[in-house]
Amino acid sequence: TQLQRTRRLPQRRPVARKDTVRAHLPSPPPPDPDSHPEPPDPKSDAWASQIPTIMKNLPRGIDETAAQQLLNEIVIHGDEVHWDDIAGLEVAKSALKENVVYPFLRPDLFSGLREPARGILLFGPPGTGKTMLARAVATESKSTFFAISASSLTSKFLGESEKLVRALFALAKLLAPSIIFVDEIDSLLSSRSGTGEHEATRRIKTEFLIQWSDLQKAAAGRETSEKDKERGDASRVLVLAATNLPWAIDEAARRRFVRRQYIPLPEPEVRKMQFRTLLRSQNHELGESEMEELVRRTDGFSGSDITALAKDAAMGPLRSLGEKLLETSMDEIRPIRYEDFERSLERIRPSVSRQGLKEYEDWANEFGERG
Ligand code: ADP
Repeated sequence: TQLQRTRRLPQRRPVARKDTVRAHLPSPPPPDPDSHPEPPDPKSDAWASQIPTIMKNLPRGIDETAAQQLLNEIVIHGDEVHWDDIAGLEVAKSALKENVVYPFLRPDLFSGLREPARGILLFGPPGTGKTMLARAVATESKSTFFAISASSLTSKFLGESEKLVRALFALAKLLAPSIIFVDEIDSLLSSRSGTGEHEATRRIKTEFLIQWSDLQKAAAGRETSEKDKERGDASRVLVLAATNLPWAIDEAARRRFVRRQYIPLPEPEVRKMQFRTLLRSQNHELGESEMEELVRRTDGFSGSDITALAKDAAMGPLRSLGEKLLETSMDEIRPIRYEDFERSLERIRPSVSRQGLKEYEDWANEFGERG
């Protein structure tokens, strides 16, 4: 999220940008092709030519410009995230496999009592891998993945946002299996978004909740007319959301997320794993005991703090060259040393304070599932 936050700032276009809406669609057909025809694959060259067909099937009342914007902005060449790219978080990974990935790949096995949750909230300190998890879910479940940041919905699309929300849910059904990933969901569903000057935000919030309820009703089989079926497969659409401020979400909205998964700061062994991965292809001289020391000194660091630290330390060998950098050849550059990390540790501090962490722990104990 931190990275996205910096990227998000200079937005000019009043639409979701390429990196906020992405799609991954099934390459192998789902095992039950009769009831779930394979949706078009936006990774293929034919994707652009499929758009008119999708537009033709758009239910009445859906704003065409909004739908077109969503479709055009789907990222076809994004780098994919796989489970193995994410250090640790094993409990969260299994919960997401069981609740999203397997049900999307084998809908025949997940009905009745095994009906999957329609809303999952990932919460925890910033930079702990929530966005990475959502992207991995999309890759691994071979779903159409719509990723929208709630703050861009509420700040950039005022006026147009309700149309966009309706088009988003309509397209998600049409292109099911789909995941609607809403980052920073707190800014959309906070208890404050109902007051005074935030009238427009309140309307978007209401629209989002209406669309989400309709989806749940349709999925529960309460809308089974032929007309409804034509509109797509509501049973394979999931709202996946992430937040660093779970306590800001109002109570009614919170209850809609049947599963609330805590994404904590990394444990020592997970930090070690992440350092190993980051240094794997680097020329470095860190021995086992130095690695242990590094892990000890990064207590309280998030995954993104660790990445920032390793990136800064990797600059050490270049910084030590000064002006000579320009005429030094690659193989003359010295390896990254423990001292480089020591120097970087003076600059790069954990982004979550102990007190801040306690708030997450308390909320997780009261409302969440831990992992
Ligand atoms: P969040 O959505 O929780 O704020 P992100 O998923 O956007 O965090 O993570 C930001 C960056 O931090 C990632 O791009 C990655 O470089 C690093 N990172 C965070 N958590 C992990 C993790 N568990 N494993 C590997 N890298 C991580």
